[in-house]
Amino acid sequence: MHKGSCLCRKIRYAVTDDIDEVSMCHCKQRQKAQGSAFAAVAPIRSAAFRITQGTEYLKEYRATPNRARVFCSECGSPLYSARDDLPEMKRLRLGTLDTPILVNKRYHA
Ligand SMILES: [Zn+2]
Repeated sequence: MHKGSCLCRKIRYAVTDDIDEVSMCHCKQRQKAQGSAFAAVAPIRSAAFRITQGTEYLKEYRATPNRARVFCSECGSPLYSARDDLPEMKRLRLGTLDTPILVNKRYHA
């Protein structure tokens, strides 16, 4: 079980699966969205992800029509992205995790 939160901690979430794959994404769109050279993201099953507090602060932005980038409307922390054509998966922004992860598979994309 993993737990995470946004910077202001109004939004908290839980991930019941292990996180065993991390991608360091360097695409331009993600650089803009994160304000960073790259973003550490992990694919997670939507069924294993639950917002435990602060759903009213969730806000989404769509730079591309079929992908929602979900962030905290109070502090701006990016939390995850989700594709309309792949509702069973989300891509979690790992900087928001509060629990440590041990990962075998890491790659830059
Ligand atoms: Zn926040």
